[in-house]
Amino acid sequence: MKRILLALIVCSLFSCKTSQNTTTNLNKIKWISGSSNCKENNDSLIQVVKYNDNTFILRQNKCTNYEAPFLFLFLGNKNALLMDTGATEDEIQFPLYKTVKKIISEWEKSIKNPIDLIVAHTHAHGDHIAGDIQFKNKVRTVVVGLNVSDITSYFKLKNWPLQNGQIDLGNRIMEIIPIPGHQQASIAVYDYATKILLSGDSFYPGRLYVHDWAAYKLSIQRLTDFAGAHKISYFLGNHIEMTNIAGKDYPTGTTYQPEEHILPLSFKDLKELNKALHIAGDIPKHEIHNSFIIDPK
Ligand SMILES: [Zn+2]
Ligand SMILES: [Zn+2]
Repeated sequence: MKRILLALIVCSLFSCKTSQNTTTNLNKIKWISGSSNCKENNDSLIQVVKYNDNTFILRQNKCTNYEAPFLFLFLGNKNALLMDTGATEDEIQFPLYKTVKKIISEWEKSIKNPIDLIVAHTHAHGDHIAGDIQFKNKVRTVVVGLNVSDITSYFKLKNWPLQNGQIDLGNRIMEIIPIPGHQQASIAVYDYATKILLSGDSFYPGRLYVHDWAAYKLSIQRLTDFAGAHKISYFLGNHIEMTNIAGKDYPTGTTYQPEEHILPLSFKDLKELNKALHIAGDIPKHEIHNSFIIDPK
């Protein structure tokens, strides 16, 4: 309490105007979560949540695709990084390029400098890459390829998946962490500015589909080690499939999730996942936890 009071006094004296201090509480966000009758859904096609001046989280409307993936946009002084492009190609149903471009233009005005856009992916599954087509052949835009070789060459990663890499967006360093297992080209991304860690489909409040058990186990161990050595504000994955009741998920394909779990997971959840994988050993095991379900394929 004393510390909060002190912070308030310091803030009022120095007016706390740095962008990092005006952040949105992601545990409190009410995401658009579809409708029981999609014909009556009036939500925006893409929900945009501003985390701070140069960090945005987007969610696709469940009524255009039940996967309702989350997408992430980080803005630096030289580059913007868009992680993932959603589950729908069509720019009428899913106006992603237009939405991203508008955010970038406003940022460019505020820094008085044009920037380039890098479009990359947490992994290569269809529900995170469909919108790539909207970004291809656009000016000042590069779309990173989907194979491990594309990722290692673009981000200059050595010794995949054992070594991380970094990319500088212009006064903003992002760490690229290989985490194959859900999909062979899965990566996690850590933003040193906001301390947000993106964990894709490998760790989120839902069914964690494991396609390569041995690789996934090693990846989650490495991610846990990384998280233990760095401050993390939020672990953010790509979907929400859990309800707000412990251990209970929505059925696959549902277009209405009025009582869904919050998007962020915690370090405690990650350690719980890591421990469960270790206990299971070499034999893939389906296991229901409070905030996620381990689901080997
Ligand atoms: Zn996936
Ligand atoms: Zn997915």
